[in-house]
Amino acid sequence: MGLSFSGSQPPVVVLKADDLSFAPDTLLSERWLRFVRFVEERGVRASIGVIGNRLEEADEAALSFVRSLAEGGRFEFWNHGYTHGKE
Ligand SMILES: [Zn+2]
Repeated sequence: MGLSFSGSQPPVVVLKADDLSFAPDTLLSERWLRFVRFVEERGVRASIGVIGNRLEEADEAALSFVRSLAEGGRFEFWNHGYTHGKE
């Protein structure tokens, strides 16, 4: 089984993920860095949900990195709520 499509154009692929998480030394957590690398290497686009209170805790370098991803046009970020779950 696999994806199939007809016509001459390849399918449009957009990955959607949520719960972006940060890490003090690497800006994003290792799992998220791997995700970003995957999206860039495959030349696809991704939509990433961000949790407000994690943004508040992120340092300026991490926020700058997220801004640069958004400005690059390959990633978009969406509001996944201020807290996650029943906090
Ligand atoms: Zn979530």
